[in-house]
Amino acid sequence: MPVYKAPLRDMKFLLNEVFDYPNHYTRLKTGANATPDIVDAILNECGKFCEEVLSPLYQSGDEEGCKLENGEVTTPEGYRKAYQQYALGGWQGLSAPEEYGGQGLPASMGLLKQEMMGTANWPFSMYPGLSMGAMNTIFLHGTENQKQTYLVPLTEGRWGGTMCLTEPQCGTDLGQVKTKAEPQEDGSYKLSGTKIFISSGDHDLTENIVHIVLARLPEAPKGTRGISLFIVPKFLPDGNGGIGQSNGVTCGSLEKKMGIKASATCVMNFDDATGFLIGPENEGLNCMFTFMNTARIGTAIQGVGPAELSYQWALDYAKERRSMRALSGKKEPDQAADSLIHHADVRRMLLTQKAIAEGGRAMLYYAARLADHMVEGHTTGDDKKADAYDDKLGFLTPILKGFLTELGNEAANLGVQVFGGHGYIREHGMEQIVRDTRIATLYEGTTGIQALDLLGRKVLLMTQGGAVREFTLKVANFARKTLTNKRVRPFSVELLKLTAQWNVLTVRLMLAARKDRDVVSSAANDFLMYSGYVTMAYMWARMAAVASDRLDKGGADSEDFYRAKLATAEFYYERLLPRAQAHATSMLSPSKNLMQLNAEHMAFTD
Ligand SMILES: Cc1cc2nc3c(=O)[nH]c(=O)nc-3n(C[C@H](O)[C@H](O)[C@H](O)COP(=O)(O)OP(=O)(O)OC[C@H]3O[C@@H](n4cnc5c(N)ncnc54)[C@H](O)[C@@H]3O)c2cc1C
Repeated sequence: MPVYKAPLRDMKFLLNEVFDYPNHYTRLKTGANATPDIVDAILNECGKFCEEVLSPLYQSGDEEGCKLENGEVTTPEGYRKAYQQYALGGWQGLSAPEEYGGQGLPASMGLLKQEMMGTANWPFSMYPGLSMGAMNTIFLHGTENQKQTYLVPLTEGRWGGTMCLTEPQCGTDLGQVKTKAEPQEDGSYKLSGTKIFISSGDHDLTENIVHIVLARLPEAPKGTRGISLFIVPKFLPDGNGGIGQSNGVTCGSLEKKMGIKASATCVMNFDDATGFLIGPENEGLNCMFTFMNTARIGTAIQGVGPAELSYQWALDYAKERRSMRALSGKKEPDQAADSLIHHADVRRMLLTQKAIAEGGRAMLYYAARLADHMVEGHTTGDDKKADAYDDKLGFLTPILKGFLTELGNEAANLGVQVFGGHGYIREHGMEQIVRDTRIATLYEGTTGIQALDLLGRKVLLMTQGGAVREFTLKVANFARKTLTNKRVRPFSVELLKLTAQWNVLTVRLMLAARKDRDVVSSAANDFLMYSGYVTMAYMWARMAAVASDRLDKGGADSEDFYRAKLATAEFYYERLLPRAQAHATSMLSPSKNLMQLNAEHMAFTD
């Protein structure tokens, strides 16, 4: 089975040449230590850890899976040791505040780390990923005492964290949450209820697990306005930074699932478990979702990671495996047949993977800059800045999460296809990538919910199209500036057409939705995918513009590197971007073609 190679060259191209992170970091308070040398050293070190420690555990973790015995969950062989290395290396606190034991680097550094870890071994990366969710929530909404008690050991990686939202009757519609929290005289609460599908709910990697739980107080209003947030530790803290008595939280069972088998997905039972309110009563959902935009970028990584991993392995295979002769004549005459890479249809698959991986990575790094500003606003108490950047990110994150995870699945499937029948056989690892990636369009809000959030909330309700206008203005300004560059001009022209079209589509949907309320739901998925293709086109044009400039003036990489960027941009514009037009047509079609069929007439079984 092949191993993962951190795509450092591409990462550094984006960081240093396309998005000018060195300059961006000088403008951040947390950026003082993120000098180019340090960033370089961190990327190299993290890449090494991912290649040498995490990647070799990817397949064995899938084969072995997690086990629940005597109420305790164990992770696959090698996971504990790898996790200890991870924690000792200080990786969990990379972008956590220094006052709680972190290294205080910008949030984007954490996302770069997450990208490499998630690509090398997504199931492993979920354990620290969930802890990060708990850390962010406690940092923003916890009392100083809660931060000292929980945030410090979480930052050290000594304790792990979870996010407990989902219950058997609800995942998307959290207004139906039933878990109860009874106030106690000492100010704590007793929580009772069952949560399902809880990632990292129990495991043997850390000495304690801090559950962040949504529950209802007695007499709380119905629906989402009556939900509060609680910290419920597996072991109650002993007051000296260690663990005390066991709390009433147990793992009832492990979900048997399609992929990410080395990630423990647990049914968690809370039986009069002691919990502590975090944030104001009945505002649990708001608190839980404060860092939603960064969490969603985190999950969008699960679109880019599989595209990258599957591409790396498929590319190696396509260079080695031989089948028939290239249509344009023998390419390797001394061999029995030409290798797969000489066939145009195999190249279509490989280049689709490459365009998704590199274009998606650019989308992540573009958004991560905004996340840095948003997080800085939160950490410095500058609410105005935090809100302004939260809005900018708020428009992009459903696009990133929804679109990139959908394309990540496509790319993973193409990887199987490049391997032919061998892709379906476990030993090559390609089918594992497909199974592991499938979840990405489901959790952290399904694609359907991202699409509704984008079109319904962010575009129509909250900004009456303003979010699209603001973003397309930026894209159009870039396109106008690059019209004189002959290598980039075809992309710029296309971008100008698309920015105009995106606004027209938005207005047409706004008008249609006034007459027919089903329009929002019926158009949302196409609108999301259209937005994704155009956003990725903007990224490819930006990469192409830099590559073109470097070819003229010289740059950090070889000419071949920049030429490959231009060729991939051309492929993207000519072969993938046309899909946007199918989405444009489909989103404007009437909701009637979806709604007219009576539910009873959807199938006739007799
Ligand atoms: C492996 C795994 C790990 C998970 N980890 C966690 C975790 O750590 N913590 C946690 O709390 N949860 C976790 N989840 C739960 C996950 O977040 C939910 O499954 C997800 O949010 C979807 O909820 P649901 O399963 O209830 O689907 P439903 O809400 O029942 O949705 C079913 C379908 O209906 C669509 N739909 C629903 N409502 C609407 C609507 N109003 N309009 C249009 N379409 C709609 C959805 O898009 C979806 O396609 C995990 C799940 C899995 C499988």
